[in-house]
Amino acid sequence: MTDSTNKLKVKCPQCGLLTLYSTENSFRPFCSERCRLIDLGEWASDSYRIPVTTPSSDSLSSDEEDYDDESDNKH
Ligand SMILES: [Zn+2]
Repeated sequence: MTDSTNKLKVKCPQCGLLTLYSTENSFRPFCSERCRLIDLGEWASDSYRIPVTTPSSDSLSSDEEDYDDESDNKH
């Protein structure tokens, strides 16, 4: 049997490229240093997808100013 068990290939978690998963690949399971750094960077930032809740600013409410003549002004 010529089954090379050492040649395991996995998909790069970052880009999905099939890469060799072995001690030769120091970036495993990533395909390259770049992908590894990208993933690490996302880890470090820990910036989850924070849902930005923007309150519906209803500040532009046209307030009808009741301009009443001071006719009913009892003084
Ligand atoms: Zn990759």
